[in-house]
Parts: sequence; structure tokens; C-alpha cells
Amino acid sequence: MNGSVIRMQDRLYHDLLLPQEAIEIRAKAREFSDRVVAPRAYEIGTTDESRESFPRDVFNALAEEDFFKIPYPSQCGGLDLKYPCCATVVTVEELAYASNSIAAVYDVHCILAGHALEYGSDYIRENYLKPMTIAEKVGCFASTEPLASSDLSSDSVQTKAEIKGDKFIVSGQKRFITNACIADFVTALVNIDGRLTMLVIDLDSKGCRVGEPDCKMGNKGQLTSDIYFENVEVPERNVIGEIGKGLHVALGTLTYGRVGIAATGVGMAQAAFDESIAYMKERTAFGKKIGQFQYWQFKMAERAIEIEHARNLYLKAAFRMDQGIEFPEPEAAGAKFYATELAGNMARDAVQIFGGYGFMRELAHDKSHYKVEQIFRDFKIAEIYEGTNEIQKMILSRTIFGRSIVE
Ligand SMILES: Cc1cc2nc3c(=O)[nH]c(=O)nc-3n(C[C@H](O)[C@H](O)[C@H](O)COP(=O)(O)OP(=O)(O)OC[C@H]3O[C@@H](n4cnc5c(N)ncnc54)[C@H](O)[C@@H]3O)c2cc1C
Repeated sequence: MNGSVIRMQDRLYHDLLLPQEAIEIRAKAREFSDRVVAPRAYEIGTTDESRESFPRDVFNALAEEDFFKIPYPSQCGGLDLKYPCCATVVTVEELAYASNSIAAVYDVHCILAGHALEYGSDYIRENYLKPMTIAEKVGCFASTEPLASSDLSSDSVQTKAEIKGDKFIVSGQKRFITNACIADFVTALVNIDGRLTMLVIDLDSKGCRVGEPDCKMGNKGQLTSDIYFENVEVPERNVIGEIGKGLHVALGTLTYGRVGIAATGVGMAQAAFDESIAYMKERTAFGKKIGQFQYWQFKMAERAIEIEHARNLYLKAAFRMDQGIEFPEPEAAGAKFYATELAGNMARDAVQIFGGYGFMRELAHDKSHYKVEQIFRDFKIAEIYEGTNEIQKMILSRTIFGRSIVE
């Protein structure tokens, strides 16, 4: 660990775009991240996945300090902010600065499951969303299946629901579902005779089973599991929105999620940048500090501009969402692609700057460890989930060329 790390964001970036209430939330989230998340981040990021390894203490602390209320209006139990999306995604960035696992857990609980429920009826908001804001219930979101994810067409989605009286009978399997093994319910995309529909399903329903957590390369505190449905009865009132409008709910939710994932990219890039600067001021080679080599000075100058750009992009997308624009393209797709690729580029630089130490999970000699190793493992998933970066480029291409050329 490097004790001399300073937040270069304060020196290089001016939050001119951010409304005052979101600036205050950022400050609160940063304080929380430093106090609660950072001391746990190494353990969270290196402990192999099991149901017991879920960072429940951090999750509960997020609830106790009202972070789960940020995205929502007061009638859903929320803080009723004027710029809830801006405030939510800066929170995600601040959490990712310390631990991308925690940022992902928060993103899925609040943005994916929570935002999907916002499309629901008063009954759904009262019985699922409100309890989520105080962590009385934990939610997860499931569009992915073993054979469907980037392609969510009705030909691909195999989890079927049959209408039987005032119930649906659901059978199928969902894959890689974050928080599933600790969740109370899932918002799940199902296929009703070719009409994709989003249902909220209680995970303790008869016929519903959640598998063991997957063992992953990084983001180890973010637990993913398969969910199996075998003739699960779901009441009619658990439809989110309307039958046949599930893809709209899923894509609206994933678009919000992408702005959050862009913010995680910025958080990870900023953390890798700050760690690198601190290290280069200390470490010497050829009688000089590493930071005295112009190669690295110029590289860091370029990364500083890129981080600024990535942060502006995701904030612009968030701003447009707060203006009521459901699909803020091109900003959301561009922000997700740009910020997550930047996180990868910055993580690669950071490990290089740390040399052999950057490659160490733990040095046997003194048990020391270096945050950049964890960021290097954690950034990769941000280029994949909530729509791969290729899908983001498809969305942008569609905006550029039109649907008649890009389907
Ligand atoms: C840690 C983790 C957490 C996750 N959490 C959740 C969750 O909570 N809920 C959930 O529903 N899902 C979740 N996912 C699933 C995730 O969203 C998918 O893995 C992701 O969308 C990619 O889908 P896939 O893995 O099936 O890849 P595929 O869709 O099979 O894609 C494989 C490759 O082909 C590329 N590709 C696909 N189509 C095109 C095209 N038209 N042009 C060019 N390239 C293309 C993709 O970009 C990708 O590189 C999670 C995954 C992981 C690993």
C-alpha cells in the first residue's frame, strides 16, 4: 500500500458541470469510500468467491448512510434529488476509486434492479423498491442467459413464461447474475410467446434456485450466480410495465447502468493514476525519480486529459438522463466505451510503472501489496458487462449511419 497517495482529481479537475447537490453527494461518497471501503478493499478484491465472502458489512453501511436512497423520488423512499442520476453515478465513481467490486454491487442494487422497478406499478414500487432503499430487500437484475446476452432478441431469450389464469409459470435459466446469491428478488427478462416481458420474481418462490457463486478473474466481491426457474408461479401483478415491453425496460435500465459503468471506469483510472504519481515521486532508477523521466511525465499528462474527458462524458450522459431523456445517446454509449477502455489503458500503465511490484498480489518478504494489481484484474469486466464495448460502438454507429444501414 502506498500511504503518500494524493487525490490528483482535486488538482486537475473542476466539477463545473456538476450541480451543487451532486457535489455534496460526491463529497459524502468520497468520505464513505475512504473511511469504510478503502480499508476493506484489498480483502474484498482478493478473497475467493463464496456466499460468505459477500461484503455485507459495507453493504449494510451503504444502507445505513442512505446511499441506496440517492437515485429515487420520495414516494419510492428516496432522497428526492433534482439530479438523481448525476448524484448516483458520482457515488459509483467514488466507490470504484476504492473498490470496483463495491461499485458493481451498488450499481446492480440501485441502478439495475432499482431502476427496472421504477418502470413498475405502485404495488411493485411499494413492495420491492421501497424496501430496497433501506436494504430490507436486496434486488438483482437478470437479462443474461447461457445463450443470450448481447443479443436479447425474442429468438434468443429462452426463459419462458406461460400465462395460466392470473399467474405466469416461469421456466429457464439466467447466468452471471450479480448479487443473486444474497438477493430476495430478481427483475428477470422472460419470453411470453415471443413477447419479451420483465417480471419481478421472489427468489424464495417454489421452483426457484440460485447456484453457487462463480469464481472470477477480478471484482471478487461482486458475486455472480446462475438462477434456475422450474415452473415458478409468479402473480400477474409482478409484471414490470406491460407484457411485451420488457426489452424497453431492460434497455432503459441498461442505458442507465452504462453511465454507472462509465463512472466505474473513471474511478478505476483515477485510482491507478493517483497510485502511479505517488510511486513515481518515490521510486528511483538511474539516480532519478521515475517521475523525472519525461516519457512518464508526458504519458501522465495525456492520461490526465483522458480522465477529464471520460468524466465529462459520463456526467453529460447523466445530466441528459436527469432531463428525462431515457436513452441519452451518443453520450451513454460513448462514455461507457471510452471510460472503461481508459481504465484498462491506465491500469496497464500503472502496473508497468510499479514494475515487478505491480505484478505482485502479495510480496512474501513483507506481505506488502499494491492496489494497481487489483485494478488490473478488476477493470476488464467493465469492458464487458452492461453491454460490451462492441455493442456500445454498434449503438454509436447506428446514430451515425442510421438504422437502415446498422441494424
Ligand atoms: C462479473 C459479471 C457480472 C454480470 N452481472 C450481470 C447481471 O447482474 N445481470 C445480467 O443480466 N447479466 C450480467 N452479466 C452478463 C454480462 O452483461 C454479459 O456477459 C455481457 O453482456 C456479454 O454477454 P456474453 O458474455 O453472453 O457475451 P456474448 O454476447 O456471447 O458476446 C461475445 C463477444 O461477441 C461480441 N459480439 C456480440 N455481438 C456482436 C456484434 N454484433 N458485433 C461485434 N461483436 C459482437 C461481444 O462484444 C463479445 O466480445 C455479468 C457478467 C459478468 C462477467
